[in-house]
Amino acid sequence: MVTDLVQIRSLADAKESENTEFRRFLRHHHVPDQVFYNVAVEIEHFIDCRACANCCRQTRVNVTEPEIARIAAFLNDPVETDLHEYVEEDPVEHRLMLRQENDACVFLDGNLCLIYEARPDACHNFPHVDAHGSTLGSRMSSVVRNAWICPILYNALEEHKHRTGWHHHKAQFTGTFPGTPSH
Ligand code: SF4
Ligand code: SF4
Repeated sequence: MVTDLVQIRSLADAKESENTEFRRFLRHHHVPDQVFYNVAVEIEHFIDCRACANCCRQTRVNVTEPEIARIAAFLNDPVETDLHEYVEEDPVEHRLMLRQENDACVFLDGNLCLIYEARPDACHNFPHVDAHGSTLGSRMSSVVRNAWICPILYNALEEHKHRTGWHHHKAQFTGTFPGTPSH
């Protein structure tokens, strides 16, 4: 299990083409995404998010107006105050998102979230491994794209390769996986 964030970033970079090949393998063999999610949920138990918080540093969080109202109620602030202090508009897509300060989410304090109980759904759901494939962020393409950020995703992806019997340049598995559609 690799948990060092610098090491994960460089390993994920080095595995970019390997991961593309692995995704192709999963598609061709109709491996259900659920097989991956089961592995990821296991891996989650070994990773302490409070020692990481990398998603709070490396991703931007979109927020909805109800989520801003929830944060304001949690902080006991008027909504307008929080909109002004903690939210900005994405200049390209014009969505609302949490501001950043010192290269991290404005609510990150050390490795802890100051609004943990009221955090936006995107934070609550990241890295989407128990979403049962029902969110955009839970697709394999997104998993691979975010593996460099998140030790859970990185290690789950590597374990998934191992358990499916896949080897780089040797995608020869011919069996079936639990839950594979029979067609
Ligand atoms: S709101 Fe909290 S959990 Fe979400 S990115 Fe900011 S610090 Fe992290
Ligand atoms: S979800 Fe992933 S990136 Fe975020 S804190 Fe946990 S291990 Fe780190």
